[in-house]
Amino acid sequence: MSKPSDPGRPAQSFLPAPGFFRIVFSPWIDLIRPARAGATFAAAPTASVWCAGLPYGCVIAVAVVVLSLRAQMVEQRRLPGRGGRPQTTVVFFSISEVWADWHRDGWFGSMELIGLGIMALVGAIVVIVALFQFPVIHAGGELGRSYVRALRAAVASLGLLALLTVVAGSMLVWAIHTEQIGPRRRPFNIFPFAIMTILACAASYYAWLGAAARGAREPEEPHDLPPRCEGCGYDLTHRPEHGRCPECNLPIEESLTPGRRRPGWAWEQKQVFGAWLEASARALLEPTRFYGALTLRGDDRAARVLARSHLLLVGFGAALWVFVLVVTELGRPGGDDVVVVPMLLLFLAPLAGWMVHRVVGTLVALGLFVRGVLPDPRWFRKVLGYEMVYLWTFCGYNGALLTGFIRFHDALYAAIGRRVPFGATFVPIELVLVFAGNGALILLWLARYRRAVRAVRFSNF
Ligand SMILES: [Zn+2]
Repeated sequence: MSKPSDPGRPAQSFLPAPGFFRIVFSPWIDLIRPARAGATFAAAPTASVWCAGLPYGCVIAVAVVVLSLRAQMVEQRRLPGRGGRPQTTVVFFSISEVWADWHRDGWFGSMELIGLGIMALVGAIVVIVALFQFPVIHAGGELGRSYVRALRAAVASLGLLALLTVVAGSMLVWAIHTEQIGPRRRPFNIFPFAIMTILACAASYYAWLGAAARGAREPEEPHDLPPRCEGCGYDLTHRPEHGRCPECNLPIEESLTPGRRRPGWAWEQKQVFGAWLEASARALLEPTRFYGALTLRGDDRAARVLARSHLLLVGFGAALWVFVLVVTELGRPGGDDVVVVPMLLLFLAPLAGWMVHRVVGTLVALGLFVRGVLPDPRWFRKVLGYEMVYLWTFCGYNGALLTGFIRFHDALYAAIGRRVPFGATFVPIELVLVFAGNGALILLWLARYRRAVRAVRFSNF
């Protein structure tokens, strides 16, 4: 058997075509092997993908309907009590009573509308999450074909989405019930934990989808690219080895000697702490130099590991920072806030960071792919991975902003005012600072991508 990396022979041709039931149940059979589910769906006939997607969409819709029914089973009511003072009582219903209540006006009630709405929402989720897998799935050729591969990976992810809906939804229903029972009768406040569960589910969903998308992409084949001048991109195919580029006068040896202009970074070879620190610091502080020395051929595993490590650190950093802020501000080391707020940040900060990173990255990638700027679109995956370090600027800015407003609000308001005129009305200064600052950081990010792409586009290695 040939190695799957043989050029010209796609790896998937060695796999037997998956059978119908293997495809339909793949999202659950391959629950812990997302790359395999992605590959199965990428190789499946279109009709099988539809047949697999619809039942999982139905499972999600039914789960949401049942969870909504359960949420209605406990209700707090205010009744006029003795002496005219309103008294709260908790009323419990059976599931059939709730069902009957929802169908008073006939068989088609709001429950059925919720079900149909959820089906439409699931369809929209598939279309949208596939879009954001685009920069890691496109490897050349038509953009539409790459998007269809991303769509297939997104359909494969519906199996996990159904399970997560049940887990996160049950937590939420539990929290709603304890809220209805009232603070005196419930053991503790479950809402923050329900929100944490939802955030953790969202994070694991995106991680799973990313792995499925990697499984669904086309077999990796080295592209045959002509040698180029690293200075200006001039095609050096028919030039002698010892000369100068006719366009920019750069010695041709400079461009074509391995390791001369692009020695690569140690992190790409060996994932150890020193190399991690070097790559992270250089990528953040000197992007032009970093990308100018980066080698682009080969897989993006090292860049992905670095990106993940920074996401984790963003979570721990945000949690620790908000913990210190809460303890020092409240002046007491106990209470719910000290545990709950940092725990929420632990999930929320990386998730928000990942989303901003991926939205900006997808916009940049689409622009590059449509104009065909990069000789090999797969190079963008590495750039995308390393650009995760830029998230620290958002952390720094928003962290400083929040600390400033919590710690020194009076002095800040005295210095810059409370509100800013906006047309005929006024906008709170906090809102202006959040939007203007983060917007400016995103514009700077686009400029960084521009420099990064300029530094890699004529790479020979
Ligand atoms: Zn040149």
